[in-house]
Amino acid sequence: MELWFSEYQTKNVKLSFRIKEVLYTTQSKYQKISVYETEDFGRILTLDDLVMLTTKDEFIYHEMITHVPMLTHGNAVRVLVIGGGDGGTVRELLKHPVEEIHLVEIDKEVVETSKKYFPSVSCGLTDPRVRVFYEDGIEFVKNNKGYDIVIVDSTDPIGPAVGLFSTEFYKNVSAALNENGILVAQTETPILFGDLVNKIYKDMSTVFPYTNMYTAVIPTYPGAFWTFTMGSKTVNPLSKEISSSLPDIDTKYYTKELHKSYFILPPFVKNLISE
Ligand code: SAM
Repeated sequence: MELWFSEYQTKNVKLSFRIKEVLYTTQSKYQKISVYETEDFGRILTLDDLVMLTTKDEFIYHEMITHVPMLTHGNAVRVLVIGGGDGGTVRELLKHPVEEIHLVEIDKEVVETSKKYFPSVSCGLTDPRVRVFYEDGIEFVKNNKGYDIVIVDSTDPIGPAVGLFSTEFYKNVSAALNENGILVAQTETPILFGDLVNKIYKDMSTVFPYTNMYTAVIPTYPGAFWTFTMGSKTVNPLSKEISSSLPDIDTKYYTKELHKSYFILPPFVKNLISE
């Protein structure tokens, strides 16, 4: 019997994976958590039947959401990650000389599932520089300050993540950031959810003097073309030179030679956010 997992990216678009085995599924307080072994994309983690990561291509997203802000900032030592319970963002951050990473993940069962089924992704969560808080990131940023970088590696703006896509939240993040602080958030796909991408960019622009979008190809995310939006208090990412003498970070997608070009947007995206 054929076994398939399908993600409804919209009600009219499905992405399907032929699977070898359903390894785990549970209903946590917040969402349905599932792990599948697939034929072509390794192991996949889904939340409420939406693909969060596959072991075949997760490096793209996790490298792009971390190394672009870290190298734009240049000397971030204290970083806050909101969401990111699979640990991939933390793993990439630890490739830099950071001193302290706070991971604020609302659902403890996501962390536990990733530690059990995705050791290559969650491997950084036990690093002594990392502290994990099982709390709502929306509240956490109101009461915790002094970060160089805040990364919002959240689910889509549904359920507990809705408030992570709001002007009020961006204002609270700005207050939680140090003077040269930078916020980066995963900000969805312009292929299928252009209105949302436009709204997020506009909201963030009302808070941060420098608001810039960058993109990456992510085969297993809706539209296979993804955006990240950076809010920066003092550093203009478009003028930040990444010195070639900087030690190379171990990456498979991000490259410092392309750092500034990631911010060069295709005309359809540039038009979308300037409407
Ligand atoms: N890379 C994925 C994406 O782009 O959709 C996100 C992966 S990560 C698993 C997303 C995490 O955000 C989930 O584990 C979810 O529990 C967490 N999350 C959602 N809302 C949250 C909130 N308000 N505070 C903290 N974590 C939250």
